Amino acid sequence: MYVIGSACIEEKAGECVDVCPVDCIEEGDDQFYIDTDICISCGACEAACPVASIFYFEDLPEDQKHYFDKAVEYYKNK
Ligand code: SF4
Repeated sequence: MYVIGSACIEEKAGECVDVCPVDCIEEGDDQFYIDTDICISCGACEAACPVASIFYFEDLPEDQKHYFDKAVEYYKNK
């Protein structure tokens, strides 16, 4: 699955939402979040993001790994 990382904070461009074929990206308080249970790993959002904030999970930079947990928490608590 894909994860939205730190560059989205306060940027929130939102192009990812329009290209996701399974409608699994939502706007949170400070960033957009991908629902990792629904994401089909198509990569469309990664290509559309103007600030290169979206990574395939395994490619997330070490210092951004916690954004996966942040996304899981977001969908658990909504
Ligand atoms: Fe949606 Fe595809 Fe991005 Fe997953 S990888 S969030 S399915 S656009």
